Amino acid sequence: MLHGAKMPRSRRILSRMLKSDVQCPRCEAGYRRIEVESLPGRPGEFRCLVCNEVLERYSGTPYVAHRLTVQPEKMFG
Ligand SMILES: [Zn+2]
Repeated sequence: MLHGAKMPRSRRILSRMLKSDVQCPRCEAGYRRIEVESLPGRPGEFRCLVCNEVLERYSGTPYVAHRLTVQPEKMFG
């Protein structure tokens, strides 16, 4: 027995996000690191917004974003 009506399935594409926390070894600023598998990234590097230390080098995939979450107590500059 066949089903007569085709039910349109609306699929939501959920982008999987991998979250973790990183801390700058130099100035102790805290970052929330988010990987998004479904987005294309680009090669490059992420530097600490506070002290310019290189925290990570990207290979290009997946897309990685960093958000400053903890300001260090000592400000450089
Ligand atoms: Zn830093």
